[in-house]
Amino acid sequence: MKKSYDIIVVGAGLSSLMFLSKYVKKFPDNKVLLVEKETRKKSQTFGVWQGPNIINIEKEYKITPKKTWRNLGLSYKKQSINKVMEPYSYVVFDGDKTLRALLKACKKNITFIEDFEVEKKVKHEECFLITKKNIVYSSKILIDSRNDMNSFNSSELLYQAFVGSEIKITTNKFDSSTVTLMDFKENKNAIQFTYILPLTKKRALIETTFFTKKPNLYQIKKIHKKYLKRFENPILIKQEEGILPMGVAKPKNYKNILNIGMSAGMIRPSSGYSMMRIAGWISNVSDLELNEQTISRFIYNPSRILNWMDKLFLKVCFNRPDMGPTLFMSLFSKAETGAVIRFMAESNTYLDLLKVVMSLPKKIMIMSLFK
Ligand SMILES: Cc1cc2nc3c(=O)[nH]c(=O)nc-3n(C[C@H](O)[C@H](O)[C@H](O)COP(=O)(O)OP(=O)(O)OC[C@H]3O[C@@H](n4cnc5c(N)ncnc54)[C@H](O)[C@@H]3O)c2cc1C
Repeated sequence: MKKSYDIIVVGAGLSSLMFLSKYVKKFPDNKVLLVEKETRKKSQTFGVWQGPNIINIEKEYKITPKKTWRNLGLSYKKQSINKVMEPYSYVVFDGDKTLRALLKACKKNITFIEDFEVEKKVKHEECFLITKKNIVYSSKILIDSRNDMNSFNSSELLYQAFVGSEIKITTNKFDSSTVTLMDFKENKNAIQFTYILPLTKKRALIETTFFTKKPNLYQIKKIHKKYLKRFENPILIKQEEGILPMGVAKPKNYKNILNIGMSAGMIRPSSGYSMMRIAGWISNVSDLELNEQTISRFIYNPSRILNWMDKLFLKVCFNRPDMGPTLFMSLFSKAETGAVIRFMAESNTYLDLLKVVMSLPKKIMIMSLFK
C-alpha cells in the first residue's frame, strides 16, 4: 500500500513540534506525516530568557512555564555574583508537558505515527520512501530532525554532559527567587558546575554539568549522587541527563531534505540551548510554504558573528578548561546583565557584543585567537 504526503517529518522532538505547531495552522492544506521512534519522551527541562525584544516563547507557543526567576546567581571559590535580571527573567518549561502541548496544537492537521524508527539512510530520489509493515510512505519534501553527530567536527569538540535530579526536601533550604546558573567547582580538565533551579523553598532541580572533551555520564552520576548527599532524605521526583555537542554544526544539505534541530545548528554552541534558536528560525520562515521551490530558504543560517564568538569562547574552554569559571564570572560581573542576557538570547545589539567582549579577560582570549 502506498500513502503520499506533501511533507514527511522525522522525529517528534522540540524543533519539529515547535515548527509544526505553527506551520500546519498557516498551511492547513499541506498533508503532513510525522513519525517518531519512541513512544515515551525522556525527561527534559527547557530554560529560556524572557524580556524586551526576546521572542516570548510562553505567549508565542501557548505553553505554561514551570517557574520564572528574576534574580540569577553564579559562584566560584569565595566569589558570588547575584544579579537582578529585571526587565528580563529566566523561565523553565517542563519538557514532557511542552512537547505534549505542541503536539496537541498540530495533531488535528497531521498524521502522527509513534514507534516508527526511520532507517539511518533515507532514500532521496524523486520522492522519499519510508516503509513500515509493507506500507510505503512517500513525500516530495522530508524534514529530518534526527540528531546526527556527524554534523560536527569531532577533532576539537567539547561536549556538555549533565545529570539532573528534581528533589523535594523537608526543610526550607532553597532560595526560590534566584536561579543559580553556575556554581563552579575547581577542575583542571573540564568546566564543572552545578545548575540549581529552585522551584520552591523545598523543591529544586539540581544538575551536575561538565563542559568536557570526554563526556562520561557514569562518572558525572557518581559526582551528582555525592552532591545530593548534602540534603537530608531528599525525595527524588525525576531525573534527566544528556550529552550535547558544543560546536558549530556543518550540516550536509541534500535536495528536498531539510535538516532541523541539533544537526542543523539550532543548538547554540556555547550554551547547549536550542529553544530560542528554533523560535528565531520559525519566525524567519513563518510566511513561507514549504515546497521544492522554497526549501532552500528554510535552511537555518545562524548569526556568523555569534558563531565566531562562540567558537573563540569554546576554543578557550577546550584549551584552558581551568580558565572557564574565570571567563563566566568575568562576563557576569563586568558586563551589564541586560547585555549578557540579550547576547545569550541572540537578540543582542552590536553594542551588547562590545560589552560582552570588553568584559572578558583579554590576554587569554587573544592567545586563543592564535592557537
Ligand atoms: C536533558 C536536556 C535538557 C536540555 N535543556 C535545555 C534548555 O534548558 N534550554 C534549551 O534551549 N535547550 C535545552 N536542551 C537542548 C535542546 O533544546 C534539546 O536537545 C532539544 O530537544 C533539541 O531539539 P531537536 O528537535 O534537535 O532534537 P530532539 O528533541 O531530540 O528531537 C529528535 C527526535 O527524533 C526522534 N528520532 C531520532 N531518531 C529517529 C529515527 N530513526 N526515526 C524516528 N524518530 C527518530 C527522537 O526520538 C526525538 O524525539 C536540553 C537537552 C537535553 C537532552
